[in-house]
Amino acid sequence: MLRMTRVSELLAAGRTFSFEFFPPQTDSAQLSLGRAIAELEPLAPSFVSVTYGAGGSSRQRTRDVVTWVRRETGITPMAHLTCQGHRRDQIAEILADYHSAGIENILALGGDPPADPADARPSDYAYALDLVEDIADDRFCIGVAAHPELHPRSADRAMDRRFLAAKLRRADFAITQFFFEVEHYLQLVEELADLGVTKPVLPGVMPVTNVGQVRRMATMSGADVPTWLVERLDGVDDPIEVRRIGVDVASILCAQLLEAGAPGLHFYTLNRSTATREIYANLGLRRVAQP
Ligand code: FAD
Repeated sequence: MLRMTRVSELLAAGRTFSFEFFPPQTDSAQLSLGRAIAELEPLAPSFVSVTYGAGGSSRQRTRDVVTWVRRETGITPMAHLTCQGHRRDQIAEILADYHSAGIENILALGGDPPADPADARPSDYAYALDLVEDIADDRFCIGVAAHPELHPRSADRAMDRRFLAAKLRRADFAITQFFFEVEHYLQLVEELADLGVTKPVLPGVMPVTNVGQVRRMATMSGADVPTWLVERLDGVDDPIEVRRIGVDVASILCAQLLEAGAPGLHFYTLNRSTATREIYANLGLRRVAQP
């Protein structure tokens, strides 16, 4: 049987379960990532994705990780790519390189502008849709980002959904920013359907393992950390207990998403395996590797 290497084919064949990693910056971070991948590989993820530093700061490291995954594991990789700080010719060069390395899946993103505007580099792309249009040919399967609770730069809900629908008409699927209430995801899918878009939207799941970190990421992404979650974590200092609560909350959310018919689950692993493995165990997920 031919191995499926495009996320669109995997989604067409059934539910996907996938993991996000970021490219390590130090030797010890590299070892942690290697260990996380080794510990997660037995769960037979449908695919794994590797983030990209907006402006190209992780260009080589992202490439190293996706090509390593493709060469050394049986897992399908997906490379993230951002508009920020890229000229058209650079993007063409990156895509030609990925194509020759056998990478077929790209997550096309806007990318966040640098904290100091003085660090911004000129870009030929204003929005992720512009990047999608440059990538769109038969060499690649394309994913895009969706923001259930709206992106902080969205003018309003209707505009956000219209721009997302336009992106998804050209792309193959979307992955959402993390969220903690199933209703945010269901509403997003319904609003897209109202605009005539029914391409698969994979919910992004972030198990809370560090309260401060999740609060920071939520502020940047526009996600809400609900009061009930803050109250559950209030006064909990033991990191093992924080993870236990985070895994419990994420397991309930995943069960609700699967029950509601989500086409899969995409886990933000932060390059660690324990929380994801515990959620798998709670959900009774037992994956069988593709032959
Ligand atoms: P866009 O689609 O460009 O949207 C950005 C904003 O502009 C939205 O508010 C949208 O409504 C609005 N907009 C879109 N089109 C128009 C238009 N024509 N006119 C006016 N407004 C418009 N960041 C990284 O740097 N590296 C990563 O690897 C990375 N991975 C991610 C993975 C996932 C699954 C997600 C959800 C996010 C990721 N991000 C990453 C963060 C992402 O790059 C930021 O949230 C970024 O600010 C927005 O990206 P986008 O692709 O949604 O952008």
